[in-house]
Parts: sequence; structure tokens; C-alpha cells
Amino acid sequence: MIVPTHRVHNFNAGPAVLPLEALERARNEWFDFAGTGMSVMEMSHRSKEFLALHAEAQRLLRELMEIPESHHILFLQGGASLQFDMVPRNLLGEGAGADYIVTGSWAEKALEEGKRHGAAREIWAARESNFDHVPQPGDALSIDPAARYVHLTSNNTIHGTQWKHFPDTGDVPLVADMSSDILSRPVDVSRFGLIYAGAQKNLGPSGLTVVIIREDVLQSCAKNLGPMLAYRNHVKNDSLYNTPPTFAIYMLRNVLQWVKDLGGLPSITARNERKAELLYEVIDAFPELYRGHARVDSRSTMNVTWTMSDEALEKRFLAAAQDRDLIGLKGHRSVGGFRASVYNAMPLMGVRALVDHMRSFAERNA
Ligand code: PMP
Repeated sequence: MIVPTHRVHNFNAGPAVLPLEALERARNEWFDFAGTGMSVMEMSHRSKEFLALHAEAQRLLRELMEIPESHHILFLQGGASLQFDMVPRNLLGEGAGADYIVTGSWAEKALEEGKRHGAAREIWAARESNFDHVPQPGDALSIDPAARYVHLTSNNTIHGTQWKHFPDTGDVPLVADMSSDILSRPVDVSRFGLIYAGAQKNLGPSGLTVVIIREDVLQSCAKNLGPMLAYRNHVKNDSLYNTPPTFAIYMLRNVLQWVKDLGGLPSITARNERKAELLYEVIDAFPELYRGHARVDSRSTMNVTWTMSDEALEKRFLAAAQDRDLIGLKGHRSVGGFRASVYNAMPLMGVRALVDHMRSFAERNA
């Protein structure tokens, strides 16, 4: 392994840090992918080398997430934002209803798009506490048994909250935006009718969106849609209806291989829990200085959010963090303060560097 000259501790919310091993593999294969004498960006998406790569990425994702054969895997473009539209466009239909659990700004956006296509209904929201928690087991959700689907956001990137137990929606398909925690922990995929995620947090670079759709949900999709917006068309063509984002798929393969080499989701989960635990420990150790935004029962392992009582202090904290190569920590404007995004590829070492900074800053300023 060649150590690069300068790598910062990158806490960006997405696009985000990628595993060094995945980047190094890309560098090694940059000019000559699979002995073709071309980079992967320069070859036909119909070539046998690219088709093998495409299949390998699908196979690795299926293996790591234990995606059952009942579910199709799609590699699309347009980000999670296009899925806010494609989900209702395909599944809702005029006169039909869908229930949305609104746990943050991205869920709100999804709901707004849903409303363009049918009777999308908000059945839960924690707006009055600025989305500091998600529903807990036992909370009433009043799901309409006739709804076409129930939509939720598994991890709320901006507010730093995450579902720990997914609700039982009976026969109503569960649809989840997993953009910011896909592949970070084991999930029983069989319980979901559809999962989607932009790749740029846990899976690879931006430009690729992963969609996992169950066969019966696919069968219920609207039939008269244009080809680029129809899940049916993408399934029929194995995501190769038009030119796919070939380099992003290549990087996804590298990232998935890295996850597999680490020991798959059990190892990744343990790593992620340890990293989040270290951060929440230091937040809780200095309550007079740091205020965690998320309620303890809803704390995310992916995005850790906190504020300070004083804006001048926040500025000093951020500047001092920058001096230590800790970057991307400024919180989203709707929460303020700080957000440390600690996706799969953030090494424990980076989290330790941040925790050291938080501890020493607190000891000097508390
Ligand atoms: N959903 C969630 C949970 C997100 O975090 C984001 C992006 N940060 C989006 C949706 C929007 O994703 P995209 O930019 O890929 O459209």
C-alpha cells in the first residue's frame, strides 16, 4: 500500500470519504482495466469486461446485504431525489393513497413529490422538536391498510437520527430511503417492498442510485410510463437500457469488495457502533458545552449532530478542528452546530482524532 501524501479526516455528509483501498485499486487499474488497455471509463458498457463488472457489483451487493431472489437490484441515475418522484410515479396512481412517516427534511421532500402523483399523506412527524427523534416501537402510526405503500427514511442525514426497529406495515409494502445508512448494518431486506439509496455516502461516488425492488411491487407498477422513469423497463434491461454511470459502478464494486474483505456487515456494524459510541460518549461527558441534537433512543451511527450554546465558541471549535485536518463538520443550517458524518469508510483513527479535539476543546472551554 502506498500512503498518499495528504489525506484529511473527512466528515463530509456526502459525497463523503471513500475507503483508501477502493481508491488505491482504482489508481492501480486507472489506465488498464482488466487487461483491456483502457480505463473503465473508456470502454463500452456492452463490452464483456464491463458486463462482468456490472454483474459482480450486483452479486456482491446481494451477498453482503443478503438480498433475497424475490428482489431485483437496479443501478440508476438521478440520485435519491429522482426516487422521490419515481416511487409515487410507479406505485401510487391517481385515486390511491400512500403513507409517509416524516422524520426530517428528506422525508418532507419525498412527501412533497408523492403529493404530485396521488394522495400522499403524512402520518407522523416530529417537526415541533426539530426532528430530534424517530418513531419508537409501540408508537401508533395509523397506517391505512389500503395505502399503496408506507415510506420512511431509515437515517436522517441532517438531523442525525436513525430507525433502530422498522415498523410492521402488515400487507402494505414498506418503502425506505436508505441513502445515508445502506450497508452500514444488517437489515432484513425481505421486509421491504422497495429500498433506494444515492451511492455517495456508503457505496461510492455520486451519480449512481441503487434501487432494490420486490417482484410483487414491480408487478403493481404503472404500465404507461416513459422508459427512463419505469422500474419495469430498468428491470427488463438489467439497468442497461441506456448508458449507465460506468465509473460509479466500478467504484461501487471496489467499495463492496472492501466491505467483504473487512468481514462483511457484522464487522462493519461493530466498527460503526464503536465509532458512534466514542462520539456520543464525549458529547455526554461535557453536557455544559455540547448538546446532542438527537434524542438518545434515536441517535444515528452515521451522522452525529450537536450544537454549542455560543456561536463564537462554535466558530473557534470549527477553526481549531480545521487546523487538525478535521473537515466537513459544519452542521446543516436547519440544525446548526456540527455534524460528523462517520460512514463506513471513516476509519476509527479519524473518529479518535475528532474525539481528542472535542475533549481538549471542552477541557479548555467548559
Ligand atoms: N435522502 C437522504 C436521506 C439524503 O441524505 C439525501 C442527500 N443528502 C437525499 C435523499 C438526496 O439525495 P441526492 O442528492 O442523491 O438526490
